[in-house]
Amino acid sequence: MKKNKETKFIFITGGVTSSLGKGIVGASLGVILKSKGLKVTLQKFDPYLNVDPGTMNPYQHGEVFVTEDGCETDLDLGHYERFIDENLSRINNITSGMIYSEVLAKERRGDYLGNTVQIIPHVTNEIKNHIVAARNQNDFDVIITEIGGTIGDIESLPFLEAIRQFQFENKENCIHIHLTLVPYLNSSGEFKTKPTQHSVKELRAIGIQTDVIVCRSSKIFPQEIKQKIALFCDVKTDDVIMCPDAKSIYEVPIYLKNEAIDTVVLQKLGLSQSNSNLVEWENYINIIYQKNKPEVNIGLVGKYTALSDSYLSVTEALKHAAAANKCDCKITWINSETLHQSDGSKKLEECDSILIPGGFGDRGIAGKLIAAQYARETNIPYLGLCLGMHIAAIEFARNILNLEDAHSTEFNPNCNDPIIDFLPNQKQLSEKGGTMRLGAYPCVIEQNSKLFSIYKQKEISERHRHRYEFNNAYKALFEDNGIKFSGNSPDGKLVEVIELTNHPWFIACQFHPEFKSRPYKAHPLFFDFIKQTLELTSS
Ligand code: GLN
Repeated sequence: MKKNKETKFIFITGGVTSSLGKGIVGASLGVILKSKGLKVTLQKFDPYLNVDPGTMNPYQHGEVFVTEDGCETDLDLGHYERFIDENLSRINNITSGMIYSEVLAKERRGDYLGNTVQIIPHVTNEIKNHIVAARNQNDFDVIITEIGGTIGDIESLPFLEAIRQFQFENKENCIHIHLTLVPYLNSSGEFKTKPTQHSVKELRAIGIQTDVIVCRSSKIFPQEIKQKIALFCDVKTDDVIMCPDAKSIYEVPIYLKNEAIDTVVLQKLGLSQSNSNLVEWENYINIIYQKNKPEVNIGLVGKYTALSDSYLSVTEALKHAAAANKCDCKITWINSETLHQSDGSKKLEECDSILIPGGFGDRGIAGKLIAAQYARETNIPYLGLCLGMHIAAIEFARNILNLEDAHSTEFNPNCNDPIIDFLPNQKQLSEKGGTMRLGAYPCVIEQNSKLFSIYKQKEISERHRHRYEFNNAYKALFEDNGIKFSGNSPDGKLVEVIELTNHPWFIACQFHPEFKSRPYKAHPLFFDFIKQTLELTSS
């Protein structure tokens, strides 16, 4: 087994503006290094004070991604998993909130033996411990750590100081990559390097000299720009990597490889150069860029429709499934809060199928019920994810079983027919953070079901993030009227999947299959949903 000390560390910082895509660049580099046979993992440090993003508004922060071990993480972890095709865990996403709560817990326990507790060394040591913890998870060849935020932010300073110290202590095994923006000014027709120069200077002021600079730009820039950046930022011209806007994020590994980022990184880390290919990625890109493919129009009914990042894994899973079916997938965003208005139902009519993703709180529930009813009655495919399963069950109870007051106790605790209710062990909980049923659980599939024909497996494992469950007291009534409980927990106590028996494709699951979809390994449930939609639209 390889000794830990040989693990190499790549730290990625960002400058000039936020949202340049550090996560995508890190993940793409991970793909290239993995394709060379290296064992790679990715880690993200988030500077905010929330302990995890689980309680954060998706409107502000985008989707909450859930790992196999049930950690609620930043959406970048989703990119990491989709790109490097490895499952990550709670060690891979660290926030300032986690670090400070650990430091304060130690202080309260008296672990610091009366010393004054300070950012340096106590907070920085705790951060370094998490880099070491990632290393100790497995004998990784390379760990890529992304520092959230932008150089110049006050809140990321402890992380930057920690990685500076870490490099000081592990000189031969660390490099820094700095991601910046090279804007193009239409008025003068020039690319500008000054923001990059300033950002690198700012980084130096805190003791970090970057080894590689990755430059985002709206289009390809000439070699002189690289030379200028190299001269002013103290790196070689080859160490300046251009990363122009791509039509698809899945093209970024190909862009970076064409810029020979792997040659530069391996040489700086003292690793031997080796060949690799990105055939799967190239094939995937060829399919998605292919013109004149058939198109399916999926109605995505949610309350955060203005910001698609709120449902990022769902939209990515749909794209992967469309590529696997060699078609394009148009997503029609339908705001569930306005669905009862006439133009809302017109939007439904444009759609070839309906997807209701996960969600919390009663805003927009009435609209989601209209959408589920529409899919059931018009026989168009319906995929319900978590809340989307609750909606399907409530709609069925009200309109088929005539239980007019059927509801989830999440939305009406005093309803007459609580067909969706609290998990039995959740009744006493008062804290909101990290207290749901989270992470991977097994699900046993009924052999005589659509679900089985899709997964072709008797037992599967999928990730969860919810508090409420189907109420088993109503199971028999549902079954007698055309609902099949095709997926259940192994002990039979929890419903995992329901499907309509007299409908071409109506499946709703308690879990979130979207978290396990990968670009060139579409998830079976999404694949079949798109396949069925495509068949129905072309028939
Ligand atoms: N709000 C529902 C629950 O807590 C569904 C959660 C979800 O869709 N992720 O059970």
